[in-house]
Amino acid sequence: ISAPLFAGLPGDIAVSFEFFPPKTEKMEAQLWDAIRKLAPLDPSFVSVTYGAGGTTRERTHGTVERIIKEAHLPAAAHLTCVEATKDEIREIAESYWEAGVRHIVALRGDPTTPGGKFEPHPGGYASAAELVAGLKEIADFDISVAAYPETHPEALSPQADLDNLKRKIDAGASRAITQFFFDPASFLKFQDTAAAQGISAPILPGILPVSNVAQTRKFATQCGAHIPKWMDDLFEGLDDRPDARKLVAATITAEMCRRLYQGGVRDFHFYTLNRAELSYAICHLLGLRPKVKTPEPETAA
Ligand code: FAD
Repeated sequence: ISAPLFAGLPGDIAVSFEFFPPKTEKMEAQLWDAIRKLAPLDPSFVSVTYGAGGTTRERTHGTVERIIKEAHLPAAAHLTCVEATKDEIREIAESYWEAGVRHIVALRGDPTTPGGKFEPHPGGYASAAELVAGLKEIADFDISVAAYPETHPEALSPQADLDNLKRKIDAGASRAITQFFFDPASFLKFQDTAAAQGISAPILPGILPVSNVAQTRKFATQCGAHIPKWMDDLFEGLDDRPDARKLVAATITAEMCRRLYQGGVRDFHFYTLNRAELSYAICHLLGLRPKVKTPEPETAA
């Protein structure tokens, strides 16, 4: 009998985790529970998203600052060009720098009305590449950008989208994080094509541990990610069985990560949705073990 699929993986991986800024006290408690559980895995960084049109500006800032101060983790702030002038972006970036934030995930962002067309602010940045260049003029931030293994929905072609990724890296970004995907082969091919075209910065696969197909389908339609038929089939009949759904979700995501690992991937970025367990379990299966003690927050939420 051969050993189980995940047996003996040496844990030679690096991980990072994405969170969103909480809206309520209850959500804040959930976020901090997730941070406390994931921190011992010694992430290379964690990042905090930015709501459409800057709606979470203060909350993103507050969350990133608190993670740095209280959890002592390197935290990155997402920042978009939507509905902001260059001066406003400068102000936000400078206040991040003053607060000790050194890593920005620089994005164009989407229009505030779903399905609308992105229109740059007359005094603002028109694309993520422009934003990266602008941020680099403000301070020497470590900058991550977005990448799309299945092509951004507005791109003229996959090649045009790769050219855009190259522009973002050439403007000063040091890594790309991908949109979520469910076909490991699409990521590995994208990585090879990017490397062949001179994109030498690391490209981290964005892993979404799915446990709710309906919600994922909604995200996927907005961002052009493909949901394969097998995923629908695997979740079919589990609508009223949340525990079974979680097990199925963990199995699917773990298998995808194992294939990425087999394909040479050692750096994984998890979309945690502010929940630790699925991401933690997958990291564990990939051989990762806690490296540091769980930090306690200094003050209650
Ligand atoms: P860009 O890189 O500017 O690209 C946008 C489109 O324009 C692409 O189709 C590109 O090919 C095209 N393009 C750009 N420049 C040119 C050019 N010169 N010529 C031709 N075509 C061009 N959104 C949020 O609102 N908040 C977040 O916190 C957030 N976090 C994210 C994190 C990750 C890891 C990812 C993958 C996405 C995230 N998004 C977030 C979503 C993102 O804002 C959207 O996907 C948005 O539609 C595109 O952003 P971008 O930075 O990729 O844009």
